[in-house]
Amino acid sequence: MTDECIFCRIIRGEAPAQIVYQDDRVTVFRDVAPKAPVHLLIVPNRHIESLTQLEGADAELMGNLCLTAARLAAEQGISESGYRLVINTGADAGQSVSHLHLHLIGGRHMPVFFG
Ligand code: AMP
Repeated sequence: MTDECIFCRIIRGEAPAQIVYQDDRVTVFRDVAPKAPVHLLIVPNRHIESLTQLEGADAELMGNLCLTAARLAAEQGISESGYRLVINTGADAGQSVSHLHLHLIGGRHMPVFFG
């Protein structure tokens, strides 16, 4: 946890967000600028800057984040229609918040992505 990180502040309940799920490892909330009808952010409660900082011991955590995303997709009713998981990592990918997060995006057709 850090004082400056907006996602850490959301996880601690110090900044507003539409939280749709939270447990002792992960918090899920709606993206403030949604790119699709469903746009959730799957965020580990522990402050990890990006995929680059992950270690071998974090394999189970990453698995849990993916399983959480799949479960939330089902709850949001987009499992059958399809969805996209995106992890922007670093400057070239446009990562704007330095706290690892998975974008869960769905509810509309998305073109093949190689932007
Ligand atoms: P990225 O560009 O991959 O780092 O994604 C960061 C995402 O966080 C963007 O889609 C933002 O719209 C979203 N975001 C930034 N601040 C907030 C916030 N306070 N509450 C919810 N989503 C946020």
